[in-house]
Amino acid sequence: MKKINIAIDGYSSCGKSTLAKQLAKKLHYVHVDSGAMYRAVTLYAMRNGWVEDGKLLIAELIAALDEIDISFTYNHTTSQSETYLNGELVEEEIRSMAVSKVVSPVSQIKEVRQKLIVFQQRLAKNKGVVMDGRDIGTNVLPDAELKIFMTASLEVRANRRFKELREKGVEITLSQVEANLADRDHQDTTRAENPLCKAVDAVVLDNSELTAEEQFQLVLDWVNEALLPLRR
Ligand code: C5P
Repeated sequence: MKKINIAIDGYSSCGKSTLAKQLAKKLHYVHVDSGAMYRAVTLYAMRNGWVEDGKLLIAELIAALDEIDISFTYNHTTSQSETYLNGELVEEEIRSMAVSKVVSPVSQIKEVRQKLIVFQQRLAKNKGVVMDGRDIGTNVLPDAELKIFMTASLEVRANRRFKELREKGVEITLSQVEANLADRDHQDTTRAENPLCKAVDAVVLDNSELTAEEQFQLVLDWVNEALLPLRR
């Protein structure tokens, strides 16, 4: 059966990756988490000491971009795709608050985006991909057959993320989580390079009041609609 590409964009902690994973599993598609790529580049910069006191050594990072290799491997035990940075498994480390705090400035660098977009487009060229991020429907996969723009109130998102982090044992307060989300939303929507915005042909999914099952059913309907022209 012919396959489509699905682009999921939206604010931080809207549940984009969770939805993308669910869809990929159901449709037997590949999930590509583009945020993980920006996080991996950020981790590389941090490890090299190019992020200090909130200041980023941009020229050093740009000069080293060719040394950064990012790859994904599907873990059959956890049913998750895991991120590797130059061959090292960094899935957990890239989700840390330390990385979350500086990932938005790193993702504003034009050269970083150019490198990652080429990689993202390569992964999606044969269709059958569910990719989530901030600029997928607008810049990375403008031809995606289904584009979803996800949103939820800041309060709902912060509460969900806070719960997740606490369950992982991370020492953090709700207001710290909320501040990080608000800050990333601001930086991601106002940056010069490919800011987060809804593609004109994207459908809006506000999940503030939806259960996970309701959301999934709704999106499956959209997927079936998007698949219709391929079945004719
Ligand atoms: O999706 P996630 O929250 O893991 O993304 C981390 C950060 O990476 C975002 O806050 C954003 O700054 C950046 N990002 C981006 N473009 C994408 C995906 C993520 O700029 N396509």
